[in-house]
Amino acid sequence: MNAKPESVRRMEVPLLDLKGQYQALKAEILPVIEKVCAGQHFILGPYVTELEQRVAKYSQAAHGIGLSSGTDALLIALMALDVGQGDEVLTTPYTFFATGGTVARVGARPIYVDIDPASYNISPAAVQAFIDKQCEFKGGKLMRRAGGHIKVLMPVHLYGQVADMKPLMEIAQRYNLKVIEDAAQAIGSDYGDGRRAGTIGDIGCFSFFPSKNLGAFGDAGLCTANDPALAEKLRVLRVHGGKPKYYHSLIGGNFRIDELQAAVLCVKLNHLDSWTEGRQRNARFYDAAFARAGLTKHVRLPVTMPGYRHIYNQYVIRVGERDRLRTFLGENGIGTEIYYPVPLHLQKCFAYLGYKEGDCPESERAAKETVAIPIYPELREEQLQYVVDAIARFYS
Ligand SMILES: *Cc1c(COP(=O)(O)O)cnc(C)c1O
Repeated sequence: MNAKPESVRRMEVPLLDLKGQYQALKAEILPVIEKVCAGQHFILGPYVTELEQRVAKYSQAAHGIGLSSGTDALLIALMALDVGQGDEVLTTPYTFFATGGTVARVGARPIYVDIDPASYNISPAAVQAFIDKQCEFKGGKLMRRAGGHIKVLMPVHLYGQVADMKPLMEIAQRYNLKVIEDAAQAIGSDYGDGRRAGTIGDIGCFSFFPSKNLGAFGDAGLCTANDPALAEKLRVLRVHGGKPKYYHSLIGGNFRIDELQAAVLCVKLNHLDSWTEGRQRNARFYDAAFARAGLTKHVRLPVTMPGYRHIYNQYVIRVGERDRLRTFLGENGIGTEIYYPVPLHLQKCFAYLGYKEGDCPESERAAKETVAIPIYPELREEQLQYVVDAIARFYS
């Protein structure tokens, strides 16, 4: 399995390069930044309102609340559902840290349930098995026998594909759980029945971190909700819980999105669908090129659930000799990343939860075997082919 030195024209294919996108949009973006500067309305101005309405409409949600980051979206969602001491949240360990970190930050306990190895999203069967084994439902509450009140189910729509929400929502309804969707990577993805990420549960949490499909020029995020009372509570919590201003019946925080970020995002939102199509086109190119190269025994391609709209925030393959492949690709100018090398149940900071290796075997296996390769829309076909050829050389 050693790559033979061959004379191949070297290309640089970074995992993500946003400079091309900026150059294409510069003439649209700079004037709106100028406009915000001229107006000096930096906090909760007109672009925030416009962004909230447009992202809500885009996601088919009734309400949008612009926030300081995706992490703060998760945090404020938990606060709005009164999750705290003594409460527990069922979620996946195979995700970005914020998913579990925010649960701990409100004083609740994250309960990590394993993923489906095909989609990498939380497995509804594993959730049900956990409940059957460790919980009882009494007085309208799902109680973990050894612990507290399980209040929330928090699926993550990893890499841009919606988790299997129908059985998850059935479980939530059966046991009176609220559902927070971590849709940070999944704006505009859908479940195959037209319902979009972030609008199936009670609250949807989005991130506009620059590497997400809709990225700001810094940190930003948003919550969606359909229930008007919940949306109002999120709005109030965003400004320290003050309503009217300086009168606090709730303790919130400063979770506001910047007007400048909202202005940039309003411009970028016009292009989101075409960028998503570019990512989907690249994914189809990879799928076909890996098959053509006879690589599918070495490279397990991402599984797209039939009918879903996968937005490919990441194109993640499962491979043998993952770390050696990564080094080889790096030497050949190809950027890759591991999302995520340590599942949350095995993170040092969560040692107090008492998990050990083997508790979530599919997540642990995915953490060892998967690697993300470049998928951003501006990539040219020759770059995509170069990536596939390099992987073919590695396994030849
Ligand atoms: C990016 C991300 C977040 C956090 O969003 P930030 O805007 O970076 O705070 C949360 N969850 C997942 C799954 C993410 O990918």
